[in-house]
Amino acid sequence: MKVYNTLTRQVEEFIPHEEGIVRMYTCGPTVYHYAHIGNLRTYIFEDVLEKGLQYLGYDVKRVMNITDVGHLTDDSDDGEDKMTKGAMREGKTVFEIAQFYTEAFFKDTEKLNIRKPAIVEAASKHIDTYIKMVTKMLEDGYAYISNGNVYFDIRKADRYYQLSGKNPDDLMVGVRDTVDADSAKKNPADFGLWFTTSKFENQAMKWNSPWGVGYPGWHIECSGISAKYLGEYLDIHCGGVDNIFPHHSNEIAQSEAYFGHPWCKYWMHGEHLNDQSGKMSKSNGEFLTLSLLEEKGYDPLSYRYFCLGSHYRKNLVFSYEALEQAEATYKKLKSRIQSLDRTPNLKEGKIDFYQDKFKEAFGNDINTSSMLTLVYDVLKDDELTDFTKLYLIENFDQVLSLSLIEEEKEIDLEFEQYILEKIEERKEAKSHKDFERADTIRKELLEKGIRIQDTREGTIYEIL
Ligand code: AMP
Ligand code: ZN
Repeated sequence: MKVYNTLTRQVEEFIPHEEGIVRMYTCGPTVYHYAHIGNLRTYIFEDVLEKGLQYLGYDVKRVMNITDVGHLTDDSDDGEDKMTKGAMREGKTVFEIAQFYTEAFFKDTEKLNIRKPAIVEAASKHIDTYIKMVTKMLEDGYAYISNGNVYFDIRKADRYYQLSGKNPDDLMVGVRDTVDADSAKKNPADFGLWFTTSKFENQAMKWNSPWGVGYPGWHIECSGISAKYLGEYLDIHCGGVDNIFPHHSNEIAQSEAYFGHPWCKYWMHGEHLNDQSGKMSKSNGEFLTLSLLEEKGYDPLSYRYFCLGSHYRKNLVFSYEALEQAEATYKKLKSRIQSLDRTPNLKEGKIDFYQDKFKEAFGNDINTSSMLTLVYDVLKDDELTDFTKLYLIENFDQVLSLSLIEEEKEIDLEFEQYILEKIEERKEAKSHKDFERADTIRKELLEKGIRIQDTREGTIYEIL
């Protein structure tokens, strides 16, 4: 498998730290508002990545955080806390806001067939972990206290600019130009690990710490939650491209300072979905949510199909015309699959061939459009029986998750094939007058809830 690694800026062979296991961390939503469909594009990409790795046979250990504290309206340390702002907007408490939008997020992801990661942790639940990490960074000289806040000293991180490829000088100018630049920092690009003082005194969530009552910086939550659940070596870290700087650059600096060695090997970033004005936004213009698409009559899975049609590293522009087109193609594909003859008749000949092709497409830096094309290739292949086509499409759908086989018609193809083989075996036994064996098979099937009956037309079965 080959993936593009933002850290090295090249497509590389994927080799996890521990054979057969992939430790994967994905930045979760900031739950101050609904997710927009741009955010959801990133979660669709991560879902395909996780499922594809499992398809290849890896044991994927995936963790995601829920940002319910610390994310300011600016990704560096300026601005108000997004959660507090959301709470004030709606006249609710921060806790109510977090709960409401966390649930809304998972309702959206479920509609898109995005599997909930095995471990999902709210940032506010791991304050002790951040305190432990910040304490160590202070002891080891990576961090300093100024004006009541604890900051990371970026001069101590030797490869601070590697992920973003930024030029330190440009960055300094950029930061200096910001009116809000924090004068407490030694270096304008240093970032906050723990705040006890800020311009915004209405910060709702606060905790005791060795440095006074306050709250953690945004970046430390991902380093902390990842360290706690995935340990010292991470294989893949994902997010949207906006996370490269400063969020992920800061995560690398902190985690490597804390562990004392390189931390995450592969950094994978999803390009943005933009609207025609150029930027997806929660505050300006039409706020594109999944519910809005549903209200307009679209199937959420048409949106998933739309996303899978383009590569995750390509910019994608959303328009209703493009979604309309995707929906028409998707529905046509589904009805074509639905019209296949479901009579069990599995021909194994080309199954491996197609499964290898599917793995190859995934392993080619997650080429989702080639993975989709394979569904069409299977449908077109005259050498495959309809049942084999269904078998393969159901198999690919473990990764594509487009509900390609209608739920009410979903069948356990392997199970049906097993019954058929048993009936054949029984027929064979009977033809050799091995009635004892034939009877054992009948009983075996009955134990599994399948009753068989010999008729003039042959043996039929009924699932009890
Ligand atoms: P947030 O809820 O703002 O923390 O963002 C959640 C995820 O969505 C992060 O991985 C972001 O990088 C990603 N993201 C933000 N905007 C977009 C966009 N327009 N298109 C795709 N992903 C995005
Ligand atoms: Zn993060």
